[in-house]
Amino acid sequence: MFTGGLGAHGGAQKIGATVIPASSGNTQRQIQTMIDMKSTILCCTPSYAMFLGETIEEMGVKDQLSLKAGIFGAEPWTEDMRKAIEEKLNIKAHDVYGLSEIMGPGVSYECECQQGMHINEDMFIAEIIDPDTGEVLPEGSKGELVFTTLTKEGFPVIRYRTRDICSLIYEPCKCGRTFIRMNKPTGRSDDMLIIRGVNVFPSQIEEVLLKLGSDVTPNYQIVVDRVNNSDTLEVQVEMSEALFSDDVKSIDKVAKNIHEQLKSILGLSAKVTLVSPKTIARSEGKAKRVIDNRKLV
Ligand SMILES: [Zn+2]
Repeated sequence: MFTGGLGAHGGAQKIGATVIPASSGNTQRQIQTMIDMKSTILCCTPSYAMFLGETIEEMGVKDQLSLKAGIFGAEPWTEDMRKAIEEKLNIKAHDVYGLSEIMGPGVSYECECQQGMHINEDMFIAEIIDPDTGEVLPEGSKGELVFTTLTKEGFPVIRYRTRDICSLIYEPCKCGRTFIRMNKPTGRSDDMLIIRGVNVFPSQIEEVLLKLGSDVTPNYQIVVDRVNNSDTLEVQVEMSEALFSDDVKSIDKVAKNIHEQLKSILGLSAKVTLVSPKTIARSEGKAKRVIDNRKLV
């Protein structure tokens, strides 16, 4: 389940901040709330921050906002995106890292220097390992991030493999904090995709398609892209010969059904495109199921 907002909410209350839990959607109302309540900090995904920025420009209310800074996480974002968000919202944009298995957001945060995220080492021990051998790598190497929790109750983890690939920075930070920093993760050691902040495994999509029986074939491709700073997910599936020769109405019905099922399993809307039989490229080795056109590094 999506725990992101809840963790940030509790943390902000703990330091005495007033929190307005706004959830997602209703963008114009969110902006009006920020104006009315004179919100100073915005916490959401970077792609939603971009969208808010664009809507604020359209509404012409930029000078009515009291925002100072933003904390953005749950999906990969670039330095260019940071600059664009900072400009659009007139704030300083900070990165945050976390994962539901550990505690959600707040495992590490960027300070005012914006040069890597300080890991809260009073709560977590971080290591970088070689994802293939499990061996701990020398300081500064790039590898898989592993966490051990020191204070977590109920669900403590010991050397938990995050599957996120990154490196750690041991040099002291200009801000004066002594906790080590981590660089933004640049990839995964498994096939998980992060789409609009939601974790998606290709196997979840495959499962939906395989349950559909004779209307579609198990030949499919997942195409991920980023359009106007928002992730898009398209699932292309080959129809069976029988469905292909059927009328457009039946084909639409099958596509709609796949869309609904994917939405309920992933919690995310995907564009479903049914393609003619034998049009998806066959591979001689491992099938290439995912085409990720997002350029994030
Ligand atoms: Zn710092």
